[in-house]
Amino acid sequence: MKHFLWLAAFILVLFATAVFFAPRTQAEDKKQTATGNVTSTVVGKSILQPEICKYKNGARAAYTFSFDDGYKEHFTIAAPLLEKYGFRGTFFIVIKQIGMPEGKPDALVYKWLDWEQIKGLHDRGHEIANHTITHQRLPYISPEAQEVEVNEPLRIIKEKFGFDMLTFCYPGNSYNKESIALVMKRHIASRLQCQAYGDVKFTTELANQRIDNLIKDGGDNVGMIHAILPGTGYQPFNDVSIFEKHLEYVKSLGNKIWVDTFANVSKYKLNRDACKLAVKEADATSCTVVIEQNKTQPIFADMPLTIRIPAIAGAEGMSFSAKQGDKVLPVTKHDDDFFVDVALNNVPVQFGLVQSSH
Ligand SMILES: [Zn+2]
Repeated sequence: MKHFLWLAAFILVLFATAVFFAPRTQAEDKKQTATGNVTSTVVGKSILQPEICKYKNGARAAYTFSFDDGYKEHFTIAAPLLEKYGFRGTFFIVIKQIGMPEGKPDALVYKWLDWEQIKGLHDRGHEIANHTITHQRLPYISPEAQEVEVNEPLRIIKEKFGFDMLTFCYPGNSYNKESIALVMKRHIASRLQCQAYGDVKFTTELANQRIDNLIKDGGDNVGMIHAILPGTGYQPFNDVSIFEKHLEYVKSLGNKIWVDTFANVSKYKLNRDACKLAVKEADATSCTVVIEQNKTQPIFADMPLTIRIPAIAGAEGMSFSAKQGDKVLPVTKHDDDFFVDVALNNVPVQFGLVQSSH
């Protein structure tokens, strides 16, 4: 009993310290990373305040590097560069252009991906995604022709390699209500907004500035890249180092931005928007939560959600643990907050603070 009283007093002091000394600007700053999808009547009793993060790992923003039209350089130059910095990209392929001989229609030397390179990109964790059969602008062709352009690539890739293409890119970024509806029957997301890379005036600074703005606004976006080297196709970089320096910069931002494929970012957003955190039990230093799913929306079991437990001032001597059923979940810590990836399998998750033994 005496021990309990001491513990209770200790917790009270912790809590008071947390309330009084939480730096206000930092707290406001962090608000942006959370979704606010929490339902609870008991959470106030715990000093742990879990919440679903807006983006994976509690990142402020999310970004996809996407590559259009299936240039060979995407395999020989772009993918190795992305991998050097630990990133994976989305490659929107045009079925008719795969394995086509080198062409010189307008003094440019176009070279195209072949089937083996497409498999190679997929095997290395990049996303292979749908950019139609012949690259016609959907709003200008018949509904029947649209069906073929949108759905045939799915069948072809599934038959050839056994995987599903999950996302779609509109040729010429041209779409209307009907084409979006058609695409969304068989894809989890389509690229409706993007930021063009390349062309003569394009600089690393411009690209970096966009990422800074995205982090400031706390959103997600998709970069659109075509040719890589001058003379090889549409909107190349003046020099490949412009792109590489940009990747280096994005990498240096660490956890502020989550870089992943369009499919992965889309899965996370769909899961996040279909789920709510419900606090089932809570005492001073622990709580049990369940991630409840909105039954009308499908979720992707292969994409966990990141839960953030905000910094607990004064708890430096204590360690933080997370368990889902019998499984101990890895906990990462940055900016004094704890982050835990939680599987969407309906198993409750327990968070707790324990006094470190040393
Ligand atoms: Zn295109």
